[in-house]
Amino acid sequence: MRRWGRRRTRWGKRQALLGFGMVLVLVLAFTVSLRQKEANQNAPMWSWSLGTKIIVIDAGHGGPDPGAVGTTKVLEKDVTLAVAKRVEAFIQQGGGKAIMIRDQDEDLGTSQALLKRKREDLAERIRIATESNADVYLSIHANSFPNEKLTGPQAFYHADSAEGRALAQAMQSELNKMVEGKRVAKANKDFFILKKANQAAVTVELGFLSNPTEEQLLITPEHQQKLAWAIYQGLCDYFAKVDQPKGAVQSQG
Ligand SMILES: [Zn+2]
Repeated sequence: MRRWGRRRTRWGKRQALLGFGMVLVLVLAFTVSLRQKEANQNAPMWSWSLGTKIIVIDAGHGGPDPGAVGTTKVLEKDVTLAVAKRVEAFIQQGGGKAIMIRDQDEDLGTSQALLKRKREDLAERIRIATESNADVYLSIHANSFPNEKLTGPQAFYHADSAEGRALAQAMQSELNKMVEGKRVAKANKDFFILKKANQAAVTVELGFLSNPTEEQLLITPEHQQKLAWAIYQGLCDYFAKVDQPKGAVQSQG
């Protein structure tokens, strides 16, 4: 404060104000660059490549259908919804459009009989996906297996879909980076919805609820955020490739 006072007497009031303004600009610029550095380190760098893209996000199960149940009763339907919402937020921040098949604990069937209801639920999810005109259909699930040693996220695509494979591979690579996994994207002809979707489709299994350690990880916001970020990055990588004019994989969506 005292130094400014001295300068004011030497330079006059106008120069002092000008000097102060310049210092303010420098401080602001420094703060902004620091912030950007932090943002780069912590992830969120918005990608231009999501601009006009539409992504259908299908959080697996919901309502009366819990999906897989973990060793300490963590429900697949809760984990899939939590991660789906985080992916939605990233897509929106990246300028893209996300269509949520569900954004609360519900299914899309109406019948009382569970099997019939499950069929209705699946049909409705497919209807929304096909009518959405989306570029990507992203289905989110969590795994369960009798051998509790199995861990790690994995992306699946339909064997007949080149776009699906490119998308699943992009996502798998980001997921592996994020959680130090070693799995590879896998073709699967049994995922009915992957076959029916009329756009690049992928099913991400977030991890194994049958592994007690991973089950506990899957309910932490930090891990959910990591998975969501990896999925989002996978989307960006995929679109960056698709949008290349030459030798790129074309999306049907
Ligand atoms: Zn599932």
